[in-house]
Amino acid sequence: MEFKYYMPTRIFFEENCIEKNKEALAKLGSKALIVTGKKSAKMNGSYDDMVKVLDELHISHILFDEVEENPSIETVARGAEIGKENKVDFVIGIGGGSPMDAAKGIAVLIKHPEINQETIFTSKGLDYIPIVAVPTTAGTGSEVTHFSVVSVKKEQIKKNLGQIIFPEVALLDAKYTENLPYHITVNTAIDALSHLVEGYTNATINPMTDLYAEKGFAIFKEAFHNLLNNEMTKEFRENMLLASMLGGLQIAQTSSSLPHGMGHILTFFKKVPHGLANGILMVEYLKSFKNTQRVDRMLHIMGLNSIDDLGAILNQLIELKVDITEEEIAEYAAVFVSDKNRLKNHPEEIGIEEIIDIYKKSLLK
Ligand code: NAP
Ligand code: FE
Repeated sequence: MEFKYYMPTRIFFEENCIEKNKEALAKLGSKALIVTGKKSAKMNGSYDDMVKVLDELHISHILFDEVEENPSIETVARGAEIGKENKVDFVIGIGGGSPMDAAKGIAVLIKHPEINQETIFTSKGLDYIPIVAVPTTAGTGSEVTHFSVVSVKKEQIKKNLGQIIFPEVALLDAKYTENLPYHITVNTAIDALSHLVEGYTNATINPMTDLYAEKGFAIFKEAFHNLLNNEMTKEFRENMLLASMLGGLQIAQTSSSLPHGMGHILTFFKKVPHGLANGILMVEYLKSFKNTQRVDRMLHIMGLNSIDDLGAILNQLIELKVDITEEEIAEYAAVFVSDKNRLKNHPEEIGIEEIIDIYKKSLLK
């Protein structure tokens, strides 16, 4: 057996997490750039909690609250300009995956004034000023991953910046997810589930990542009931935030696999929310496996008898019809396989025919 394991993020998970662990921020500098989406951080209390603590610590702060869903590289560059002008020492990303991912890119560009929104993708091993991440959705696990996924209009694709950008501190408090609308709760929960599934059925698994996945599947075994019946208890919220973080810890080692890469294309062209884009492809992805051993084990831990049982749950949760043609599917499949890296985490032989097949069976119903 051999494996490598690297996870440098300090994780704090508790109620009133920001206030209780403010000492973790004290040593990061005297000026912070807070990066959020347009509204939610101000409405769920996370922004106010952070400002209160920064004021107590005499850390000055400015706000960049312009991060859109599936943030563009231009938004990342704009945030970085504000950070550079104000000479901030660290960046605090508060929100769903979009603001947290944007904060990561911003931290790299602030550290490297010589790098721009194009060279950031091709420069190797860029470092960054410290990042603090506060998730307010339970799905991406971005608070503990090194990925930063951005939309690149020129190339018509969503892609990872290609840098290793781990937050220094992750502050997880499920109270910020308490008022998440039902549809965002579902979309993001399916994202967390996809990370666990894709990390478990991956060519790069190791015993550590299986621990995260199997704990995550056990959480979903209980949580499916809450998701299906809209029973948003405090315990459910905490468990989803934990499952999301476990999925993040897992894909930080394994990376995701086919549904994520194929789903990014659906998000870019068809505006399908990130979690749903993975979820809608999950059943056919799982059915494509010739060796079903790990798929069966995963279903067993989730308390399900078959892929179709999982499909029935996902069907109930995902109310979505993607308007798509066979020609578009052929196009997207060609884009997808044009970069062989997108196939490399799949443990079995796979080519464009199978990719087309997964898209077709998932979308042309
Ligand atoms: P998101 O795009 O960050 O946010 C979706 C929506 O949820 C926004 O309208 C946001 O509003 C709202 N929202 C966030 N927190 C809320 C709260 N507590 N209450 C009410 N509304 C809230 O969604 P996401 O699914 O978390 O992130 C998706 C992004 O993460 C994608 O770009 C995806 O590619 C990326 N991702 C990254 C990783 C990684 O490892 N880095 C993994 C998976 C996915 P506001 O805009 O007003 O904040
Ligand atoms: Fe994801």
